[in-house]
Amino acid sequence: MSRVDVMQPWLGEEEIEAVAAVLRSGWVAQGPRVAEFERRFATSQHAAHAVATSSCTTALQLALTVAGVRPGDDVVVPSYSFIATANAPTYLGARPVFADVSAETGNLTAETVAAALTPRTTAVILVDQGGVPADLDAVREVCDPLGIVVVEDAACGAGSTYRGRPVGAGAEIAAWSFHPRKILTTGEGGMLTTSRPEWAERARRLREHAMSVSAADRHASLVSPPESYDEVGFNFRMTDLQAAVGIVQLERLPEVVARRRELAAVYVKAVAEIDGLRAVADPDWGTCNFQSFWVEVSTGSTTERAYGLDREGLLVALAEAGISARRGIMAAHRQPAYADAAGEALPVTERLTDNTVILPLFHQLSDSEQARVIDVLREGGVRR
Ligand SMILES: *Cc1c(COP(=O)(O)O)cnc(C)c1O
Repeated sequence: MSRVDVMQPWLGEEEIEAVAAVLRSGWVAQGPRVAEFERRFATSQHAAHAVATSSCTTALQLALTVAGVRPGDDVVVPSYSFIATANAPTYLGARPVFADVSAETGNLTAETVAAALTPRTTAVILVDQGGVPADLDAVREVCDPLGIVVVEDAACGAGSTYRGRPVGAGAEIAAWSFHPRKILTTGEGGMLTTSRPEWAERARRLREHAMSVSAADRHASLVSPPESYDEVGFNFRMTDLQAAVGIVQLERLPEVVARRRELAAVYVKAVAEIDGLRAVADPDWGTCNFQSFWVEVSTGSTTERAYGLDREGLLVALAEAGISARRGIMAAHRQPAYADAAGEALPVTERLTDNTVILPLFHQLSDSEQARVIDVLREGGVRR
């Protein structure tokens, strides 16, 4: 019985060629390929400015910094997210304040954000969880009049749309990930996009030690101008090796999303016929790239009929059939690192994190492999 993975990046000969060309050029650190990747990414995501970084985590840290978040500020974040979302404000000495999410989307809403605001709130990190677009306009309607910056965490969002545009296009500032678990990969890597030229310029300096003259500009002149360091910066650079991969990956994006949506539609149809399972779906305001395809296993505590297995039981049944699946998105407020964090009760976060399973979904997943997954879902639904 062959194993079915939960996720595999899609990389081809084109990426290998692109990396080889960078190696032959002799310029391997941040340089012309990073600049080209930034231009192309900005165009494809309808962003005014794009600044490549070493990861989405560092892009989030830069985004909060240029947005003016200060030590002691409160930043509203979902607990229902990868831990990096909560870590970003913590790095700045700000306090993450956890807000609950919608059961349909797994995302913060205008209501849950409004309930978590304090007089010290200066930013909100709005995640497009698993590639499901968050309702950015509704959250901005709450935050904009209060001068609270909404940072979109689009780590999983490349290829999803919100109100007819790529996610992130309507954000003042957004952060993206190119980790292999996401839709596009550069090995490790991230991007910050923003509509504000002054934020882009400061992020560009901060990622490179806040140097007044970039390494690329120094290289371009024989007698380099003297540089200065007006604030304390970071080394959050992407390399040209990574950017060369990213340029090729970006060209694959439409094809990747089309195949993922095709596979997701098959799952959605099958799950609709199984009592006690509910699948992630497109919200009214956009389309998902299905970066994470999750199902919620009903425990029967609500009005719906219970599924035949609980979440752990379904994971075991899948594993016995050689299928690798994952527990759903984590809840940061339950982690020891955030044991002292502030926040209200998070019933929807806890329900989703305890009862969801992420199923195999990736470009190369074959129809027959997907059919094996669906067979297990159907068998598990039979009451025993
Ligand atoms: C993966 C992820 C991150 C972190 O991305 P890295 O590129 O690995 O730093 C941040 N936020 C969310 C929502 C993620 O899923």
